[in-house]
Amino acid sequence: MQHPELKRWLQEADPTRLDALWRHADDVRRLHVGDAVHLRGLIELSNYCGRLCGYCGLRADNRDVPRYRMSHTEIVACARRAATLGFGTVVLQAGEDAALTREWVAELIRRIKTETNVAITLSLGERDTADLANWRAAGADRYLLRFETSDRSLFDRIHPPRNGQPSDRIARLHTLRELSYEVGSGVMIGIPGQSFDSLARDVKLFRDLNLDMIGVGPYIAHPATPLGRTNAPPAQPADEQVPNTAEMTCKVMALARIVCPAANIPSTTALATIGGADGQFLALQRGANVIMPNLTPRQYRLSYQIYPDKACFYDQSEENVSRLGTRLHNIGRQIGTGRGDSPNWQQRTTPSPSPAGRRCS
Ligand code: SAH
Repeated sequence: MQHPELKRWLQEADPTRLDALWRHADDVRRLHVGDAVHLRGLIELSNYCGRLCGYCGLRADNRDVPRYRMSHTEIVACARRAATLGFGTVVLQAGEDAALTREWVAELIRRIKTETNVAITLSLGERDTADLANWRAAGADRYLLRFETSDRSLFDRIHPPRNGQPSDRIARLHTLRELSYEVGSGVMIGIPGQSFDSLARDVKLFRDLNLDMIGVGPYIAHPATPLGRTNAPPAQPADEQVPNTAEMTCKVMALARIVCPAANIPSTTALATIGGADGQFLALQRGANVIMPNLTPRQYRLSYQIYPDKACFYDQSEENVSRLGTRLHNIGRQIGTGRGDSPNWQQRTTPSPSPAGRRCS
């Protein structure tokens, strides 16, 4: 699918045509990644952050959020809980916290790997190559780093450099790939200043990067951030601005599935926040195949405020997981077993007689 068609879909309003898009994405999903819905236990291990991202409530200068950092023991207990609940993966996410040193994280990875057999996904922001290589060697399996938008000037506006170092998330993604991580990225949808043209280019970049995991969610304004409290006039005509709606998010998920058929695609928490549990479920029928239940201990969870009123369905209780299993069963799906590695990663790392046929289409 090329740029004009991607953009047309993003601007499509006709419900009958959109139904065809949802059906196509669902067919591609079934064919390439099957009916299993993999569960990832999300552990938000620290909300300290040295950055000043214009969109994120964890930005360094937000004094209204109580800061916390979990101990190794607390994090390992959450990972054990994930294993007990039958989740094949934990996602360790945090702000860019200088106290999460190379050795601290490596030791944590080794402890989780010794005590459980869950796969480990890291989402710790922009870290240098030596850190990433060290954590891979310690046993980390996957890394998530959203490029947020492929529009360089918009990115620079919302994501100021740290310590004078301009960020190049695309270069980081290439490094992660060279280090043989399963590589995940994605964008926010409806960032003020984001146009349909630039969002169509984002989807094209998913394909060009041949991503193993793609996470997209609506941008949600946080009042303690420059982007969230801005009263400035929009940077572009209103009809060019991408809305931050559940439907627009589903369109991007569906297109992501079509351009990267074998990627793992979560139905994200941000989507659940604006679309409710029903919206989160709908996305599973429009291309998504992963859910990330939150395993952060309750006393910390409220403080991990990247945006306000973060939804949290299906968290740590057996009852919730079994409720989720029943709901999935009702739509012809089931909870995945095992690690749930990305089929795209498996294909690109397993030698094949015809590699050309195995890329994202
Ligand atoms: N520090 C890590 C993890 C950040 S939180 C990193 O920068 O990669 C993970 C994702 O949450 C971000 O990549 C961003 O896409 C999303 N996010 C942050 N603030 C948001 C907001 N206000 N609305 C919606 N999504 C947001």
